[in-house]
Amino acid sequence: MISRLSVSEILRRLLRRGAYNIFEKLLGIEREKHGLRYVPADAVGYAVVCPRYAAMYAAEREVAVFARALIDRVRYAEELKIVDPSVLKSTIRKALRGDRKAAESLLEVGRGLTPKDIERIFPSLRQEFERYRKAARGPPPEGFGEETYYFYNYAEPLPYAGFSDIWGSYVVYIVAGIASDYVYVFKYVRGLDYSIARSMAAAEGDVAAKIWQRPRVKIHIQKPEKTPKITYVDPHDPEPHYKAFQRGEPRAGPLCHRCPYKDLCTL
Ligand code: SF4
Repeated sequence: MISRLSVSEILRRLLRRGAYNIFEKLLGIEREKHGLRYVPADAVGYAVVCPRYAAMYAAEREVAVFARALIDRVRYAEELKIVDPSVLKSTIRKALRGDRKAAESLLEVGRGLTPKDIERIFPSLRQEFERYRKAARGPPPEGFGEETYYFYNYAEPLPYAGFSDIWGSYVVYIVAGIASDYVYVFKYVRGLDYSIARSMAAAEGDVAAKIWQRPRVKIHIQKPEKTPKITYVDPHDPEPHYKAFQRGEPRAGPLCHRCPYKDLCTL
């Protein structure tokens, strides 16, 4: 498998096949070396409504978010041709066999890249969205895959890029659409009021606008079988949301009725 595929594709396939243990080990090394915690930007959105929910949601998804961030970093480095493909393949071979030094090297791939660097591959990121959009045609699936289906069928065609905002020991990771003068946040929601979904999406937009230095956030709220609601908002510094997330205090509200963490909640 290793000889034919790019290293980011190998990592992507490992993730799809559920090889979580590999990413857990890599995350363990990352924590030891850099002391970082990976947080999905939608947890920052949840922190606007209930910071305790947000903290527990983020903890559950940390391995998946770290895996996505690593795969994206490696993919950017490969596309920008700043890594030697044969050296990278040898590194991943050794890392998968348990070689600690190779795993450490893999974790450094693409680490210093900036949003400006990533903008150079926006054409290929946009083409990738178009490819997935074609593949997502047909009736919507139920359950798993539903959100992805709506995203590829209804989201604006843009380059979608993942990138981190590092705040203290937190790596807040967001995948957003990037236009020349706005960032675009697509939110597929069931069972939440529009105004709540919008506040959460705006908080995510704050993270993306800070990273990509765009002056506006375009929010797209999509409910199943409904007309999309699209608004533009001015971005704000996301730090107050980060601080609320860090404190992790419970706040009773609209998430309580569907909260999977109720048993652990102190309210
Ligand atoms: S039950 Fe309500 S207050 Fe408690 S964590 Fe869940 S959403 Fe927050």
